[in-house]
Amino acid sequence: MTRSAILPAPLFISSALHRQPVATPPHPLAVLRAPLAEDLARALGWLTDQQCRAAPQATRAALERFHSPAYLDALAQAETLQDLPTADKRLFGIGVESNPIHPALYRRPAVAAGGTMLAAELTAAGGVVFFPCGGNHHAMPARASGFCFINDAVLGLMRWQSLGLTRIAYVDLDAHHGDGVEAAFAHQPNILTISVHEAGRWPRTGVASDTAQGVLNFPVPAGFDDAGFDHLLHATIIPALIAHQPEAIMLLPGADALADDPMARLSLTNRALWRALASIRPLCPRLIVLGGGGYNPYAVARCWAGLWAILTGQPIPTTLPGAALDVLAGIRYFRAEGRNPPPRWLTTLAD
Ligand SMILES: [Zn+2]
Repeated sequence: MTRSAILPAPLFISSALHRQPVATPPHPLAVLRAPLAEDLARALGWLTDQQCRAAPQATRAALERFHSPAYLDALAQAETLQDLPTADKRLFGIGVESNPIHPALYRRPAVAAGGTMLAAELTAAGGVVFFPCGGNHHAMPARASGFCFINDAVLGLMRWQSLGLTRIAYVDLDAHHGDGVEAAFAHQPNILTISVHEAGRWPRTGVASDTAQGVLNFPVPAGFDDAGFDHLLHATIIPALIAHQPEAIMLLPGADALADDPMARLSLTNRALWRALASIRPLCPRLIVLGGGGYNPYAVARCWAGLWAILTGQPIPTTLPGAALDVLAGIRYFRAEGRNPPPRWLTTLAD
């Protein structure tokens, strides 16, 4: 158990299993995501092996703290057979509704869960961990949803609880409502869940009129930009966090609220998410930063590498070293914009 010591510096958790896309074009997940951010951070000289931990695969017993045995059986069966009976596909949302069956269908989300739970253990006494492979915020106890199979965020928050933390905040800035996490803790007012997401977009939950105790939802219109975001953050979200007095905060930044993302119509720059992290970081002694959605690999890599820079106090450079340019030049993106990417995707970190 690693809970006894306060982390002296931020740690980065990575997963080799996430170095393969889980789908083929035109599925939005036919891109690399978190490993690109890791590679970019390493190329910038911001990340060494000493700062990294490997995400372990969560045990079956750990997954059953949130997920049903029958659902986990179906996930494992689908990984082995690369198929499922039609009735089970429909029942569990596996292999339907854009939740693709792939060769690591059970292991990969189980590793994400293990990583987020490890992050909770590492930060139990205080500290900061970044785990960009984590953030599968839509997964439900007995159903895959929104490309998410195992809800590592829920399991990480539950891990914090099992280690004795009671007042916790979850902040979800992904373009889609953090429905799975909200549902898991909606009846626990000590766990404040906050979600900012595009109004009317799938899964269409998280309307502002939801008034459950410990749940704050901010549906925002298409075109929502940095000025609107900064105002919402400082006028409402930060005061709500301060009032809640959390012992620990889990932040799911996503990268699909960025203007460059193809899946939503919000218009943030990566600088808005970096400022948000810088503002949230000092609010409590324990912080886990996950990844979440984000379907433009150039935007994901640049945004999430920058999050690590914020956590570790690195200035964001205006010109990138050759090794970082090489990482960006090596990105593959199947959409039309990916065939002729704008120069800023290839040469800059900040939007
Ligand atoms: Zn999303």
